[in-house]
Amino acid sequence: MNVRPAGVATHLWTHIREHTLARNWELSDAFFAEIDGFAWVQGWAIVRRRTRHTYRDPRFDRVVVCCTCGGTGKGEGGRPCRTCKGEGLLNFFEPPPAARKSA
Ligand SMILES: [Zn+2]
Repeated sequence: MNVRPAGVATHLWTHIREHTLARNWELSDAFFAEIDGFAWVQGWAIVRRRTRHTYRDPRFDRVVVCCTCGGTGKGEGGRPCRTCKGEGLLNFFEPPPAARKSA
């Protein structure tokens, strides 16, 4: 036999480790299946780890802090910021509200 006992033991532990990792991934997939399915339908990004999954709505990437008021929503004299309408955030994918017509 060409395999030393130490090599057999190492191979055995490697096999057990790989088998355990594969079972953990299977359990993780089974545990998160319903939540992952919901996130997939919603179009969320999913970061999968062995024991936790992180979900993120990519629409949040479209929102930035208002550069005029710095996110406070307050403009000159304590009035709402004119750029973000007092919300403190800007969404680049939403069309700007229609300007009011003066009489
Ligand atoms: Zn603003």
